[in-house]
Amino acid sequence: MSDPALQVLQQVFGYDAFRGEQQAIIEQVVAGGDALVLMPTGGGKSLCYQIPALVRPGTGIVVSPLIALMQDQVDALTELGVKAAYLNSSQDWQEARHVEQQFLQGELDLLYVAPERLLTDRCLDMLARGQIALFAIDEAHCVSQWGHDFRPEYLGLSFLAERWPGIPRIALTATATAETRKEIAQRLSLTAAPHFVASFDRPNISYHVVEKNEVRKQLLQFITQNYLGECGIVYCLSRKRVEETADFLQSQGVRALAYHAGLSTQQRAANQKRFLREDGVVMVATIAFGMGVNKPDVRFVAHIDLPKSIEGYYQETGRAGRDGEPATAWLAYGLQDVVQLQRMVAESQGDVTHQRNQTNQIEAMLGLCETVSCRRQLLLDYFGQQLEPCGNCDTCLNPPETWDGTVAAQKLLSAIYRLWRERGQNFGAAHIIDILRGKATDRVQQHDHVSLSVFGVGADLSVKEWRSVLRQLIAHKLVSVQPENFGTLSLTEQSRTVLKGEQSILLRKTEPQQSVAAKRKVPDETLPPEAQACYERLREWRTETAKAHEVPPYIIFNNATLKEVASLRPATLIELGRISGIGARKLEAYGAALLACLDQYEQALI
Ligand code: ADP
Ligand code: ZN
Repeated sequence: MSDPALQVLQQVFGYDAFRGEQQAIIEQVVAGGDALVLMPTGGGKSLCYQIPALVRPGTGIVVSPLIALMQDQVDALTELGVKAAYLNSSQDWQEARHVEQQFLQGELDLLYVAPERLLTDRCLDMLARGQIALFAIDEAHCVSQWGHDFRPEYLGLSFLAERWPGIPRIALTATATAETRKEIAQRLSLTAAPHFVASFDRPNISYHVVEKNEVRKQLLQFITQNYLGECGIVYCLSRKRVEETADFLQSQGVRALAYHAGLSTQQRAANQKRFLREDGVVMVATIAFGMGVNKPDVRFVAHIDLPKSIEGYYQETGRAGRDGEPATAWLAYGLQDVVQLQRMVAESQGDVTHQRNQTNQIEAMLGLCETVSCRRQLLLDYFGQQLEPCGNCDTCLNPPETWDGTVAAQKLLSAIYRLWRERGQNFGAAHIIDILRGKATDRVQQHDHVSLSVFGVGADLSVKEWRSVLRQLIAHKLVSVQPENFGTLSLTEQSRTVLKGEQSILLRKTEPQQSVAAKRKVPDETLPPEAQACYERLREWRTETAKAHEVPPYIIFNNATLKEVASLRPATLIELGRISGIGARKLEAYGAALLACLDQYEQALI
């Protein structure tokens, strides 16, 4: 075993082999080269800079925007016997001073720094006086101005290339459309660096999309039927909805906590900590929550409002199942979501191109919800990656029936057209559907719409069906929603081809009750039945140990490691050390206690 990187992987991290692109990336950086790394959440990005930092002389400087999580990252490394520290605004003067001394004396393998801190004179001066192994720029998409996580401080980071041209820089992100990638490379002066693009597929996450009716009830049912007592995240669009939903879930016996930017810093930190350290907490949050929360056993991510973009959605759902075990992404959406999002765009600051771009993203998201083919295919296509139908999303598991919706589409489009022609006005969905269904409401009569040739031509479909047709036409860009005008509907360039009968339209049927059917594996199929009880005992041991050490349980050992221990029942430290995820330091720290726990368990059986 001569390769020092492999040696570190095995001895420090306790893993047998590199995953996917890890080896190539690590070789590149160890040799002093730059790299741009695109890997999905849970793909294993951290090792790509941690190992080179350990192999190269000097300290690896990790730029991370997530002050609240630096502590956990450093704790996890410390547990592995890696010398790590951080510098950020949460520390007092003495603590920071101590860390600076450690760095200057060459005592640190890794140093995490917030970007605004890094670019201060004091920090740059300190860096100039020590030895730097590499710069890692984590969450590199924060440099993208049009992205959802833009951080202005990131724009200053290209300075590192000027100031330290000889030090390798590695930028990492889980957000990876071709555009974002280009923007990252340009803004971080990494245009000459090779790109390492991993597969973005996360096969263990099952994707499910349902139509919203009583969304809180639907959510509760999803949780109680599939994941009661397990850890999950529920994303909502607004603070108010976060509060209401968390209250509701609590009242129904779910251990829910709230997280949004309106809470005090302390409250947010406290809730985040509970989410990380306690078992089975459901975090109800705005998208302010989640970046860098690398809790491996999040079993589900639910969205009860339509996300603003596929990119954001994929990143959020990627927070489920980092441990590689089955997990579910569940999304509930409705037409109202589209109108509301479009309105937010219209009311937002920003130039026309930016607004257009956002509108396109919302439409792409709606397209994902309305698709009749594999959802994962569509998601990965968005990142430029091809895939066979996955077999693990609702459309694969339960293919939706389709019907020829050409005539229905023509009716709807001509209703919009006639109203505009003859009444000089655009109307909203409810009104148009009333006209199609021949419902002479006060409002309909007031405009004398009864005289229109389209009045009542759509009586064969229910309101629900018409809403579904409409959503699909919006998703196909055949109808556009005018957000600045209370969600009125208008035709698009492409509508004409349908009206003229040049294009036919295949639509999905609305399903009576879309079942979630996230196949829970109870009892756990990844574990032989006879190891089940032992595994539970080991988890209890882990919880106690984590409490005593004041770290999250997964920092001690992850589930996969405990499962292997429960199945193999090692009797000696040497046998224990062969298990994946048990490196030298953890063996030393916990090996004896773990064996004692196993021993006790077996004694009790006799
Ligand atoms: P990311 O930062 O890309 O979201 P992480 O670096 O947190 O992902 O890695 C996800 C999980 O996979 C972690 O629990 C990590 O320890 C594990 N992991 C990473 N690389 C390997 C490997 N080569 N073998 C086994 N497990 C790995
Ligand atoms: Zn699929």
